[in-house]
Amino acid sequence: MLQEQEAHAAQMEQTFIAIKPDGVQRGLISEIISRFERKGFKLVAIKVVVPSKEHAQKHYHDLKERPFFNGLCDFLSSGPVVAMVWEGEGVIKYGRKLIGATDPQKSEPGTIRGDLAVAIGGNVIHGSDGPETAKDEINLWFKPEELVSYTSNAEKWIYGVN
Ligand code: UDP
Ligand code: MG
Repeated sequence: MLQEQEAHAAQMEQTFIAIKPDGVQRGLISEIISRFERKGFKLVAIKVVVPSKEHAQKHYHDLKERPFFNGLCDFLSSGPVVAMVWEGEGVIKYGRKLIGATDPQKSEPGTIRGDLAVAIGGNVIHGSDGPETAKDEINLWFKPEELVSYTSNAEKWIYGVN
């Protein structure tokens, strides 16, 4: 049993997920949160913030050479964003699956963008794309003490016996 718990702990990951201003304005907060929650992932931090333009530029720094960078940063800082950290086995990669392809015209039905968005400039949600960016983005948006460590009663049922 102890070994199983240690094996699970070793695979636990955290990812940064944000509902962008369009998702907030369109009333999609609970719909988006429920998809992560029902999957079995655990919410360990959440806040509503209007990021500054400088903060948005830091968040999207890897895209600074792209032509849409300035407009994208204006957009992200234009209104409230729901910033979250979700935890679970494989949550970084599977979170991206739940979100779907960047361009909602190409996102599969069943994904958040596939079901809830039409255009790339209004694709409602951000999710970290790998372990390094997840760490950097969590550090950019949250102080360590804003993350809560807890065991959910459902975990033994979510992760099963193996
Ligand atoms: N974006 C855009 N035009 C593009 C590509 C991206 O407006 O041609 C925006 C879009 O909001 C996207 C964000 O820039 O979600 C970040 O782009 P990235 O390639 O990192 O996509 P994501 O990781 O969000 O799927
Ligand atoms: Mg990205």
